[in-house]
Amino acid sequence: MSDESKIKIELPKEHEFRFDVPQNSTISLKQQLVEGTAEYFGTELALGVAYQFDNEKGAIFTWYPGCVLELVGNCKHYISSETMMKEYLNIHNILQQNRTTALNEKKRGPRVMMVGPTDAGKSTLSRILCNWAARRGSQTIFVDVDVGQGSITIPGMVAAQEMTQPTPIGRVEYTASNPLSYFYGAVTPSENIPLYKNQVENLARDIDARCDDNEGAVRSSGLIVNTCGWVEGPGYQLILHAIDTFKCDILLVIGHPQVYEDLNRTYGSRGVNVIQLPRSSGVSKRDQGYRRKARTEKIKHYFHGLSEDLTPHTVTLDFKDVVILKVTPSTQKGTRLMEITPSGEVTHCILGVTYHATSMENVLSNNLAGFLYVSEVNVEKQKITFSSPSPGPFPSSYLLMNSLRWLK
Ligand code: ATP
Repeated sequence: MSDESKIKIELPKEHEFRFDVPQNSTISLKQQLVEGTAEYFGTELALGVAYQFDNEKGAIFTWYPGCVLELVGNCKHYISSETMMKEYLNIHNILQQNRTTALNEKKRGPRVMMVGPTDAGKSTLSRILCNWAARRGSQTIFVDVDVGQGSITIPGMVAAQEMTQPTPIGRVEYTASNPLSYFYGAVTPSENIPLYKNQVENLARDIDARCDDNEGAVRSSGLIVNTCGWVEGPGYQLILHAIDTFKCDILLVIGHPQVYEDLNRTYGSRGVNVIQLPRSSGVSKRDQGYRRKARTEKIKHYFHGLSEDLTPHTVTLDFKDVVILKVTPSTQKGTRLMEITPSGEVTHCILGVTYHATSMENVLSNNLAGFLYVSEVNVEKQKITFSSPSPGPFPSSYLLMNSLRWLK
């Protein structure tokens, strides 16, 4: 089949059309709905619109007979009846009932957490539930504490975003406007567990404040929290910490009976609804290389836009105009920040720009304004050059650094 061959697919009721557009290829797949109705991870496809998928694995699903898709492009694909969508819909219906009750009783809405190993389908289920809720007019807060594949700002951060609209199709990323994002700066929580926990707590504090400020849809719509796939040993302890910190009352445990048993034993008696779900057969395994490439792509999209048609600003500053604070491996007392003089070590780093930071003490507990990429350090001239989505000036001179780098 040539790249541009066009085929029609009749998708039976309650079936998924699964596809895998490979990484490291120039193939992109265009799909459109020519008859009937269909959705992509909870977002409805519009009739006659061509959606482009690059480097993406996914599934188009229909609830009704009469769905016809047209495909242009070449990739692995197949139709499956083994879908979890009905189970997911049952959960969504419970959440909608809880949201209505919460609105009427002026209480906080359901706080749901996904738990499971890597490649269990946690991000996908989060996305489906957020999209269905948005289609019903809810304003769920999507919380992503998966620093490895975080989708709200860039990987390496813990972040949250109000979901007022379903996610656009053909983009894995959430198009976050005004996200809450806290600096962690590494792609695995094991690198600095105290800092990771601190940042989860900072995020939860600001989410609670946001919910309590709003008596309407935001407070009653609740949270959907996506977590890392590290569910063993210290990773399990981090899951417990996140459940308690976000005050979750529904746990969806995907593809790990032992973790389900453990969580149910601990939380079942405390009024938390712990639900076990099998892993969908459509979820793909992604190796380390795939994950690394996916992270690089997300950082690229931050600086160059989703269509990669934007050019970031180049900003050169004197060393004296910036304070680079490096997160050092934590002691039991918590994380230490060390001011460093720019050198080759900083080149290629991604730095977090803080809002309103007046002193070193509170920089880590502040929401981030954005990110800079260090493209050059000139020690002789005492100049540092950044790529930045904004031309500056930046809201504060404090720039946070950890191990996160962008090696293009
Ligand atoms: P991790 O914790 O490792 O980041 P995860 O548990 O969040 O992984 P997902 O990202 O949801 O897993 O799913 C893994 C991959 O499988 C994704 O590329 C996703 O798009 C794909 N996928 C999920 N469900 C399906 C499906 N039903 N059909 C085809 N692909 C799917």
